[in-house]
Amino acid sequence: MSSRAAAKTKPTDQQADRPARLLAWYDRHRRRLPWRAEAGERADPYRVWLSEIMLQQTTVRAVGPYFEKFLSRWPDVTALGRASLDDVLRMWAGLGYYSRARNLHACAVVVLNNHDGVFPDTEDGLRALPGIGPYTAAAIAAIAFDRRTMPVDGNIERVVTRLYAIEAALPQAKPLIKEMAATLLGPSRAGDKNSRAGDSAQALMDLGATICTPKKPACALCPLNDDCAGHARGDQETFPRKAPKKSGTLRRGAAFVVTRGAELLVRSRPDKGLLGGMTEVPGSQWLAGQADAAALAEAPELKGVTRWHRKSGVVTHVFTHFPLELVVYTANVPPRTRAPDGMRWVPVATLDGEAFPNVMRKAIAHGLDL
Ligand code: SF4
Repeated sequence: MSSRAAAKTKPTDQQADRPARLLAWYDRHRRRLPWRAEAGERADPYRVWLSEIMLQQTTVRAVGPYFEKFLSRWPDVTALGRASLDDVLRMWAGLGYYSRARNLHACAVVVLNNHDGVFPDTEDGLRALPGIGPYTAAAIAAIAFDRRTMPVDGNIERVVTRLYAIEAALPQAKPLIKEMAATLLGPSRAGDKNSRAGDSAQALMDLGATICTPKKPACALCPLNDDCAGHARGDQETFPRKAPKKSGTLRRGAAFVVTRGAELLVRSRPDKGLLGGMTEVPGSQWLAGQADAAALAEAPELKGVTRWHRKSGVVTHVFTHFPLELVVYTANVPPRTRAPDGMRWVPVATLDGEAFPNVMRKAIAHGLDL
């Protein structure tokens, strides 16, 4: 079965049984995750929301310690809504995609101020909050409130495209995948508090993460293997189909690692835009094809610095839309040298507590030979 035709075909008895098979498998093999409620318990919307925001473009393993840190510092959405953005960014440092941290804070403030500290319990209500897109709204609605909706993340896309051997390529195939994913929800039972929509969603997420993996899926252990079209064809690993990727153009720039004894010169990036509000060492613009001399011309003006020492090699980093190459220059200035306007000195010993994005941590480590 393939492409759109799949959506219009009446399910066979075997296919109609899929949601029940999936739930039975989940009851035996569900992953234990720090944010997940125990079997039969009601999930906490704050934990579900926090984990879903953190898990966007980040692995379960990387998120675990951050989730625990956030929860012990801000145990509920009211506490997080009262925190300062700087504290949230500092705690987030290292998780990447920092617009998520700014939206996380903005969302907590809105829930606190406009909803009395209680999350809306519908997809539409959740969608209206900062940083909550269609996937996250569906995930929270299903998992925290048992709304009958199927959130579709990368894991679920993989399972569904294999199950139905969907030939259409991503991202165009997304609406069809969502339609087919919904067939894996248990039957609708009006007024039934135990419809288990949240468990169906989490079952599919777990199946994608542990059995229907990108490489070498463990089909022999899969509860859906009896009627999986990809498995029957033997080419399941080739799904989902993807349109060829366009990689961005390489941008180049310079970073200036300046020390004053045991202190480092830093500044904050503008609130809006890439890595908004994060801390960085002074640097040039990041431009495609930029020559080293042009980047060096943007060095900060500091009393006592007549020449910059260029470190050998470059620091590389890949952002979502472009790869970056930074040349690192260093200088050591005399005690009491003033920081240029908009910059400040911070002790090297406390750099871990600063909200540096990963690219800056790499540049500083390169400049300081850490
Ligand atoms: S049978 Fe294999 S390919 Fe099909 S859903 Fe299960 S693990 Fe994925």
